[in-house]
Amino acid sequence: MLSCHQVSARYNGTPVLDTVDIEVDPGEWVAVIGPNGAGKTTMLRVVSGALTFSGEVTIGGSSIAALPPRDLAGLVAVVPQAPVIPAGITVFDYVLLGRTPHIGYWSMEGRSDLREVGAVLERLELSHLADRPMDRVSGGERQRAVLGRALAQDAGLLLLDEPTSALDLGHQQQVLELVDSLRRDRGHAVLSAVHDLTLAAQFADRLVLLADGKVRATGTAEEVLKPDILARYYGADVTVVVDADGNQVVAPRRRNPVG
Ligand code: ADP
Repeated sequence: MLSCHQVSARYNGTPVLDTVDIEVDPGEWVAVIGPNGAGKTTMLRVVSGALTFSGEVTIGGSSIAALPPRDLAGLVAVVPQAPVIPAGITVFDYVLLGRTPHIGYWSMEGRSDLREVGAVLERLELSHLADRPMDRVSGGERQRAVLGRALAQDAGLLLLDEPTSALDLGHQQQVLELVDSLRRDRGHAVLSAVHDLTLAAQFADRLVLLADGKVRATGTAEEVLKPDILARYYGADVTVVVDADGNQVVAPRRRNPVG
């Protein structure tokens, strides 16, 4: 679904991504991990068409460099870290914006669009807030609505930039499980930047570790989440244990334990 080949990008001449290769198959979830400033958000911005780059990025076989923005929006749904939210817009109308690529140039939204938005709000437990302006909901509710907008778009590739950073534990699980069921039911591909390595291990099929704009490790959680790798690229002292379900759990170790 997504193929990034030898992608490099710069901000004002400073290199930020250096010959990055990432592949995501339909129905697959790939998590981009790495320390702050590694280039995770930049990589997602490149794939969403928001940043110029060298190398090649194709989605569903089409090179994004050649795609008009509207066609790209039909292929990729983005959940950015800091979305632009129109002033005064309600939760319902904000999620409805996700349907834009499905609505003809001169048309209004149809009944199926309204139904889809209603279903997304229900799945995200936001129905009771449908008429509330976005600037009058909590941070977690806003983050779920932003995800809802991307889900309503129903694109083959979902890009998530730290989708659960403002959510409590229960809502983190709810949102990630929802994304997981969508990619299983609809075969959507998911590329996400994830801070929490334990959650990345639980939900992603593969991890790509970026540091200083380069891919430093790639593979399953078992292959990538190793204490020596995490020490090298995060400067972190961690223990990695395997829980009863066989998932890697990354726990920080205190460097100066008491007693
Ligand atoms: P991550 O998401 O892994 O934390 P980013 O992709 O946000 O990393 O940033 C990668 C590097 O690019 C960092 O050094 C950051 O300071 C720099 N950077 C990010 N956005 C900009 C920008 N708009 N202009 C200039 N430099 C930027």
